[in-house]
Amino acid sequence: MIFYSSRSEKYTADSAQAVLKGIAPDGGLYTPVRFDQMRVNVADLLSKSAREISAEVIGRILNDFTGEEMRELIDAAYDGKFETEDLTPVEKVGDDFVLELFRGPTSAFKDVALSVLPRLILAARRKLGVEEEIVILTATSGDTGKAALEGFHDVPGTRIVVFYPDGGVSDVQKAQMVTQTGDNVGVCAVRGNFDDAQTGVKNIFADDELNHWAQASGARLSSANSINIGRLAPQVAYYYKAYCDLVLRGEIRLGDPVNFVVPTGNFGDILAGEFARRMGLPVAKLVCASNANNVLTDFIRTGVYDRRRTFYRTASPSMDILVSSNLERYLFMASNGDFDLVADLMAKLRDEGVYTAPESLMKVMRENFWAGCADDDRARRAIGKVWQDYGYLMDTHTAVAWSVMEDFKAQEDNGWVNVVLSTASPYKFSRDVLSAISDAEPQSGFGAMDMLNALTNVPVPEPLTRLRDLTPRFNDCVDQPDMLGYVKRAVAK
Ligand SMILES: *Cc1c(COP(=O)(O)O)cnc(C)c1O
Repeated sequence: MIFYSSRSEKYTADSAQAVLKGIAPDGGLYTPVRFDQMRVNVADLLSKSAREISAEVIGRILNDFTGEEMRELIDAAYDGKFETEDLTPVEKVGDDFVLELFRGPTSAFKDVALSVLPRLILAARRKLGVEEEIVILTATSGDTGKAALEGFHDVPGTRIVVFYPDGGVSDVQKAQMVTQTGDNVGVCAVRGNFDDAQTGVKNIFADDELNHWAQASGARLSSANSINIGRLAPQVAYYYKAYCDLVLRGEIRLGDPVNFVVPTGNFGDILAGEFARRMGLPVAKLVCASNANNVLTDFIRTGVYDRRRTFYRTASPSMDILVSSNLERYLFMASNGDFDLVADLMAKLRDEGVYTAPESLMKVMRENFWAGCADDDRARRAIGKVWQDYGYLMDTHTAVAWSVMEDFKAQEDNGWVNVVLSTASPYKFSRDVLSAISDAEPQSGFGAMDMLNALTNVPVPEPLTRLRDLTPRFNDCVDQPDMLGYVKRAVAK
């Protein structure tokens, strides 16, 4: 399979190169165009396990790896890490379905992909004869950092450094990161907000001197964020898995299309659904759900992408994003690989903060996508109502999607089954979830966790219960300019 940079035809890569490089030299995102060559027939998957489906689907997208390699890699990635062999179970809630993506080690959906990515990077490194140690640098607003640490810790040939904004993550998220085990990990707070940490990491990647120094030290810098095709591919698998579950339970007939409602930030999760659709999965609509940062809702409805707007800090922080980086891949796909158009739109976004997509492209998009948004208030009410009516406890991100599903059903009920993607355990956002179903006012995140558990009897994920007994290993805190020094010390270890 050939992957193209979304910004110029000069840069192509095979799947191993695309995984190892992460981003193309011109800043574009590696994207396939021949989806007809990646078809996966659902009927062939019905008798398979979650891991087998995963290996099959990922192997179709990243086809430089043999079937054998892929199965081994998937086994190593998921073995003993998820609560169920199912990996991503589907629950019926009322007339609709919830696809639970949070049964992994860090209780957020990023585990599904970040368990696989380190193995893919190692396999790519072997295939390409690269010998350097791979050093992963990540800035996180909470979920990605911990999921990346869980994925990379003690994986030979890799090292990982995570930066988080000091005071900018929840108690639970901080505890998750600073207690991380492993000899090849580093965790460091940065004075400032998430953007400061993110900019610091970007500066390090752009620092020629550091890159030369790293090379001389036998290291190669890489990133674990969702622009890597190796993070997208594992997410395509759970759309297939969910569909198979619905068929096997007799909820739908083989061939019936299904709506997927996706709580969206960087547009990675929902783009994986579009990959599945183009690979042959019967998908009716992909419903793009945003919180108060509704830049994507406006874009899908009007064709104007405008990031010049107020940034809101919401109760669904992993969706607090104004530049959805994976949308670039979709623009490339929906324009039939029009590099010049994508490069032009991305330049406008960078320089002016706004662009307008051609109507022909938006027509394609609206055939397959529907968009809506819900603010914190609506999401909170949805958590309360779904708990009351069905005894099902949702987290704040899932609740945004649930609310948008209700709008979708009211405005455009196409009669097909709806599957809401659930991206985090309610216990990861205990305080907000608790306040949605009671008047309790806990003092800390852990206090909220206990109260929520006492009130609902929904089991707390094991790794979260153990968290408060673990000893913190990392207490470094640096200013942005000193991040470079921290990385150098980590690489030299
Ligand atoms: C990352 C994340 C999202 C958004 O996913 P994207 O792929 O960025 O659209 C939603 N919910 C949670 C809990 C997340 O961690």
